[in-house]
Amino acid sequence: MNEVQPSQPAAPTLDRATALARIREAVGPAGWLDAPEDVAPHLADQRGLFTGACAAVVRPASTEAVAAVVGACAAAGIGIVPQGGNTGLVGGSVPFPGFDGILLSLIRMNTVRAIDPLNNTITVDAGCILADIQAAAAEADRLFPLSLGAEGSCRIGGNLSTNAGGVNVLRYGNARELVLGLEVVLPDGRVWDGLRGLRKDNTGYALKHLFVGAEGTLGVITGAVLKLFPRPRDVQTAFAAIRDPAAATELLARLREGTGDSVTGYEILPRVGIDITLQHVPDIVDPLDGRYDQYLLIELSGPDAAGGLRPALETVLEKALEDGLVLDATIAESTAQARALWKLREELPFAQTHEGGSIKHDVAVPVSRVPDFLREATAAVEAALPGVRVFAFGHVGDGNIHFNLSEPKQGWTTQAFLGEWERMNRVVHDIVVSMGGSISAEHGIGRIKKAELVHYRSPVELDLMRTLKAALDPQGIMNPGMVL
Ligand SMILES: Cc1cc2nc3c(=O)[nH]c(=O)nc-3n(C[C@H](O)[C@H](O)[C@H](O)COP(=O)(O)OP(=O)(O)OC[C@H]3O[C@@H](n4cnc5c(N)ncnc54)[C@H](O)[C@@H]3O)c2cc1C
Repeated sequence: MNEVQPSQPAAPTLDRATALARIREAVGPAGWLDAPEDVAPHLADQRGLFTGACAAVVRPASTEAVAAVVGACAAAGIGIVPQGGNTGLVGGSVPFPGFDGILLSLIRMNTVRAIDPLNNTITVDAGCILADIQAAAAEADRLFPLSLGAEGSCRIGGNLSTNAGGVNVLRYGNARELVLGLEVVLPDGRVWDGLRGLRKDNTGYALKHLFVGAEGTLGVITGAVLKLFPRPRDVQTAFAAIRDPAAATELLARLREGTGDSVTGYEILPRVGIDITLQHVPDIVDPLDGRYDQYLLIELSGPDAAGGLRPALETVLEKALEDGLVLDATIAESTAQARALWKLREELPFAQTHEGGSIKHDVAVPVSRVPDFLREATAAVEAALPGVRVFAFGHVGDGNIHFNLSEPKQGWTTQAFLGEWERMNRVVHDIVVSMGGSISAEHGIGRIKKAELVHYRSPVELDLMRTLKAALDPQGIMNPGMVL
């Protein structure tokens, strides 16, 4: 019987200059950028927190070219930072300062390879923009349900590598649950063709799940087979003022029960968030007349065009009004009205950028613990940093709250406030973990949460992660310094 030997870092077999020349040849002139003005947009992150360096931005147009690039890097020990739409929020898609490897951008790999409506699958290049995949699915009269604020520019390889969540997780799951097969270029340059469109496949380890959520540290995703669903024919969108966060969890249970489990979106918005959005973003309308502390944006959808969801929604909301869970509510009468409600939600994070420094927490707790979490975490940060402004919003139906803190209005510089980042993280994350929650619900670890990962994950979990990393990428060339 063969014994499995742990992989050892191999000594470079190719000199750097030869490797870079091979890479340049593999991607052609359109795939190689080294002028400072061309590489600069790839080297700064979405939130303006990080800038980095690289020898070149390399943009292969095929899986074979990616394999040639990675193979040359492996032979010469050159680091690789994969990048999709560069919309990630944890600094994982931008190299560190002084990095002398390559930034591997997938943006030229943007072809929908195949759609199989009867199998309900779509096969795509990793560089396809998420909105383009949604549109291609819609053209085939199908739904690809992954949906998030950055969908016009994020790319599916990035979505899978971060195991993105978004606004439809409640019904359809996150990116991991939407992928059936993957094609991955491994850190040694070999191609793993796992592009299977199967609902059932128990042949050994589920390799695809290693690469989903790995944030580019285990290989480069080049293609994927994704699940499609019937397009919803009946969509109802409501906006409700609620008594308190406990009313949100109670109402969710009633809505699921009373509408045949048709809730697809369930977002919580605080009044303070609505106020800053009205203040900073044009064309936003306050949906209700009164002022209340907390609101819900609710979306129901189902395949039945007969319109049965509207009366079911009205029934649940009326009863919740009677019971005092809901204080006021409106149901969108048109697609335009529904879009306006979603715009309010989607613009809230941008509005917060006008409010000075922001310390963000993308956390999850069991849905039933959300009210406790909001109460305890708000009290704790207000005690730890008097004057801090809490903007807690997001995917409450998944127990996922973006617990964002804006700097106090007076007495703080942005720099001094951001200097409190680690201390505030610890205050919030301790509460999250005490409730059995996660310190990163959907954005990943990147570089921002590395220390938190080590602090909160058990030695056994960290050991398993490091073992996997060492087995797949013994030289540590894939997205060096991220996650672990
Ligand atoms: C306005 C806004 C709203 C957002 N809303 C949400 C939300 O609701 N839910 C959510 O989950 N996220 C959200 N995000 C975060 C972000 O959009 C997601 O993390 C998204 O999945 C990243 O995709 P990307 O193509 O931009 O990846 P990038 O930012 O380019 O990369 C992200 C990570 O994946 C790696 N990577 C990228 N492509 C590949 C590949 N092909 N192979 C291997 N590794 C790769 C990178 O190295 C990096 O570590 C939001 C961001 C913005 C700006």
